[in-house]
Amino acid sequence: MAMEQALGRYVVNNEQWRPIAESLVEKHEIISHVEPEDIVFIENHWLVPKPGQHIVLATITKLPERLQVLCGYSYVLELRMNAIGYMTQKQLNLLIYHELRHIDRDGTVRKHDIEDFREIVNNFGLGWANPGAEIKDILEINCMAEANPEIGD
Ligand SMILES: [Zn+2]
Repeated sequence: MAMEQALGRYVVNNEQWRPIAESLVEKHEIISHVEPEDIVFIENHWLVPKPGQHIVLATITKLPERLQVLCGYSYVLELRMNAIGYMTQKQLNLLIYHELRHIDRDGTVRKHDIEDFREIVNNFGLGWANPGAEIKDILEINCMAEANPEIGD
């Protein structure tokens, strides 16, 4: 019984999310070092935000080496499904991009430049994840070319 209830709280769904990561990595040089097959995509189906509560929409975690050996993945990308149900596909694509940007070239998971990553804010604004936000598709723009002019502002 307890086991049955536990099933479905976290669901591995590489089939749905990894192809997005693969497309992003192919398109955007800044994350070209990321290996999507090193990431397990886990949906969190139990965490429900209270009305008005702000919760983190997704997280990325580097597994300790021992666990990497055991499970064959280096990172866990967790999506809080009850918090992102409103998102358009474009927002979901950008959410995955955001999480992948946390993986540094040396393999560590790093924090944001600012409140978000600079090129995301420059291209999409800070409110890109808000309900109803209409944004460009990260899979259709060259983020780096448009985001980082030589002279910053
Ligand atoms: Zn973040």
